Amino acid sequence: MADYDVAIIGGGAAGLTLTHRLRGINDRRGRPLRVALLEPPPGPHTPVPRTWCFWEPDGGPWDGLLTARWENLSVRGHDGTVHSSSAAPYVYKMLRSTDVDAYVRTSAAGYVEELPLLVTGVRDGVEHAEVRAREPGGGEASLTATWVFDSRPPRPAPCGRTHLLQHFRGWFVRTPVDAFDPDAAVLMDLRPPQPPNGVAFGYVLPLSPREALVEYTEFGREALTTEEYERALKDYCGLLGLPEVEVTAAEQGVIPMTDAVFRPRVGRRVFRLGTAGGATRPSTGYTFSGVGRQTAAVARALAQGRTPVPPVPHRRRHLAMDAVMLRALDTGRIRGAEFFTGLFAANRLGDVLAFLDGGSCLRREVAMGLTTPVRAMSLTSVDQVWYALRTRLPRT
Ligand SMILES: Cc1cc2nc3c(=O)[nH]c(=O)nc-3n(C[C@H](O)[C@H](O)[C@H](O)COP(=O)(O)OP(=O)(O)OC[C@H]3O[C@@H](n4cnc5c(N)ncnc54)[C@H](O)[C@@H]3O)c2cc1C
Repeated sequence: MADYDVAIIGGGAAGLTLTHRLRGINDRRGRPLRVALLEPPPGPHTPVPRTWCFWEPDGGPWDGLLTARWENLSVRGHDGTVHSSSAAPYVYKMLRSTDVDAYVRTSAAGYVEELPLLVTGVRDGVEHAEVRAREPGGGEASLTATWVFDSRPPRPAPCGRTHLLQHFRGWFVRTPVDAFDPDAAVLMDLRPPQPPNGVAFGYVLPLSPREALVEYTEFGREALTTEEYERALKDYCGLLGLPEVEVTAAEQGVIPMTDAVFRPRVGRRVFRLGTAGGATRPSTGYTFSGVGRQTAAVARALAQGRTPVPPVPHRRRHLAMDAVMLRALDTGRIRGAEFFTGLFAANRLGDVLAFLDGGSCLRREVAMGLTTPVRAMSLTSVDQVWYALRTRLPRT
C-alpha cells in the first residue's frame, strides 16, 4: 500500500485549493483520504506572497477570506474615454495568498500531513508513484502515493508558437487625503505610453478611500527591470492625479501567455495542476478561477473512485481564440491599446468578463468578435490554421 492516497506537490494557488477541496473526502472503503502537501520552507524555489484576483458571482468558496470586492468596474481607453458599469452577474474579488495559506493549513490540520520538502523527482508506477525530495537539513527523503498532483513550474516549459509575458509590478499605496472610490475598481487603464509591440496598461484596486493596489502591466516579449517598472508606476500615479503616495508594499511578477499545449496527465499516477496543468487563461493570465474548476473536478473524481485527471479548465474554442489574439498582438497586426479600448467600448463589461472566464455562449462570442478588427483577426486565424496544418503534415 502507498504511504498516501494523494501527494500534492507545491502549496501555491493550485496546491492549497486542492488541499482545501479534499477535506471530508473518503476513499472507496469510506476512510478519509491520506493526503500529503509538499512545500519547501521559504527560499529560492518558493514564490513571494501575492494577491489573487478573479471574478465570480457572490457566494463563492473564498468569500469569507476576501481582502476586497468590487461590484462596479471601469475601463479607460487609450483616448481617455471611460466605460464604467456594473460587473453583474459577477463580483471582482481579491484574496491575499497569505490568508489562503493560513486558512487552508489551519483547517487541513486533521487530514493533511504538511511536509517541508523540496521535491527533486517523481517516478510514475503501476500501483503508485514515488516522490523523491530533499529535506531542509539536506537529507534525502522519498514517499509513495496512489496519485501525485504536481504544481511545480514545468521544466522545460511546453513549446508553443507564440510566447508573450504578462509582466507587472504593483504598489500598495496610501494617500494623505481621500483619493479612491472603494466601491469601484479600474480593471484596465490604457492611457500609459504604449510599447512598440504588445500593450501597456495600469489598473487600480481601491482598498479604502486612501489605500489601493496600483499596478503597471505589459503584455510583451520581455519583462522590464524593477527600475523601469518603478518609473512607469510613478508616471501612472501622476496620470491618475494622485497626491504624494506612500508605498507600503509591492508585488511583481511574470505570467506566461502562450498557445503552448499543457498536458495535465504526465503518467499513470502523476498529473500536473495549476499553471503547470494549463489553468492559466492565455489571453488574460488569470489562473485562480481555472484552478478552482480544475481542483473541483479532481476532488469529484477522487470521491467517486475515478482516475482523477485534472481537466484543462478552458474550452478548446476559447484557447483557439486566445491563440489568435496573442498572435495578432505579437505580430503587430493589432495594436493592443486600440484593440482593448474597442472591445470594452462595444460590449457590456459583464459579457467580456463571461468570455474571459469561459462562461460565454458561441453566439455572444461571434458578436463580440465582430467588434474587434475583423480583417486583422481573420488574417491571423487563417495564418494560425495554416501553421497548424504545416506543423502536423509529415515532411516529404
Ligand atoms: C505576483 C503574481 C500575481 C498574480 N495575480 C494573479 C491574480 O490576481 N489572479 C489570477 O488569476 N492569477 C494571478 N497570477 C497568476 C497565477 O494565479 C499565480 O501565479 C498562481 O500562484 C499560480 O498557481 P500555481 O499553484 O499554479 O503556482 P504557484 O502558486 O506558483 O505554486 C507553485 C508551488 O510549487 C512550489 N514548488 C516549486 N518548486 C518546488 C519543489 N521543487 N518542491 C516542492 N514544491 C515546489 C512553490 O513553492 C509554490 O508554492 C499571479 C501571478 C503572480 C506571479
